[in-house]
Amino acid sequence: MSHSSFDTKVVHNKLDQKQVINSKSTPIYQTSAFTFKDLDHLESYYEGDSPYLYSRERNPNTDELSDAVANLEEAEAGVATSSGMSAILAGILAVVAPGDHIVAAEDVYGGTHKLLNTELKGFGIEVSMVDFGDKQEVRGAIQENTKLLYTESVSNPFLRVEDLEELVALGKEYGVTTMVDNTFATPYLLQPFTFGVDLVVHSATKYIGGHSDVTSGVLVGTKELIQRATQKVVTLGASLSPFEAWLTQRGAKTLALRMKQQSSNAEKLAHALKENQSVEKVYYPEHVSDRGHGAIVTIELDENVDVETFFQSLGWVKIAPTLAGVETTVSYPVRTSHRSLTPKEREKIGINDQVIRLSIGIESAEDIIQQFEKAIAHSIKEIF
Ligand SMILES: *Cc1c(COP(=O)(O)O)cnc(C)c1O
Repeated sequence: MSHSSFDTKVVHNKLDQKQVINSKSTPIYQTSAFTFKDLDHLESYYEGDSPYLYSRERNPNTDELSDAVANLEEAEAGVATSSGMSAILAGILAVVAPGDHIVAAEDVYGGTHKLLNTELKGFGIEVSMVDFGDKQEVRGAIQENTKLLYTESVSNPFLRVEDLEELVALGKEYGVTTMVDNTFATPYLLQPFTFGVDLVVHSATKYIGGHSDVTSGVLVGTKELIQRATQKVVTLGASLSPFEAWLTQRGAKTLALRMKQQSSNAEKLAHALKENQSVEKVYYPEHVSDRGHGAIVTIELDENVDVETFFQSLGWVKIAPTLAGVETTVSYPVRTSHRSLTPKEREKIGINDQVIRLSIGIESAEDIIQQFEKAIAHSIKEIF
């Protein structure tokens, strides 16, 4: 084409992609669609020889991320989505239809609780929420039309560790699909798929991304289920954008280093707070994996500690309604993640006004411990 007119030339200034450019990091394919040199080339897409057509369906950056997480989880396939919530939704819709029934853990993430009990019930999907710590209760809740057992490998905020072997055995016994949210454990600590779990979901917003700069999700599992889930993602428009996928995957490269340091810091802090007279309870898992037990510590402050003052006395530890960043942060479940639950539902799972969730970062363990000890000491109510 001769770019004689400025109006045409201004649009067609483009890098010659026929050159082989060996960039060290994956380029961001910030494109909504892909071009074809002729009709045979276009046909090759539909014959499955050429992977990319339209980014909502598939993009090299979202592929890189979903392949990476599937690889870390040792799963057959994966799909990247716009958020953890859309990954959860796609996974569930790959398995259940109106008239079907889900048995879910009563202590799931607040957003998941809401999805199950409002949106999905609205679609005519039945849901029972039970204590997955008691597999007899799970067994008792399974009905003729049960299609899915849904739980988290490590729960929020009390860090109950799911018995994956028991869960998988129960699923197999009743021919029910199992799905596990592995956000808190990450594949560095646990790989539920290797236990036989069918679908594993991540809010990649948290540890996979790791830097609190992106919202994304990844679902991995068997090839067949991921194919079905991908259709849901594409049709619902829940795909991840190329840039968000690129950012998430950049963060994911340091997952092992981060989890190692964050888990080790969290374990040291949990030990220190157990010795503190003003901390009523410390929730920290006894055993998640041989590599560590995760980077979340939940505490219940003693009645004589003023929570408002505690939150004001934390110095460089900020209040944030999220977790998993490289910085240590704190959150208040009553006001954030579990706000949508009724007080009765909260009470049933043990969340009260003194419960605080700590997300431990990569800073020095000594500094983290000192910061919390100082804030607690500063918040003890005067007794007259
Ligand atoms: C944050 C979170 C989600 C939801 O993920 P988003 O990326 O915010 O949509 C789901 N499950 C768990 C355990 C989470 O912590």
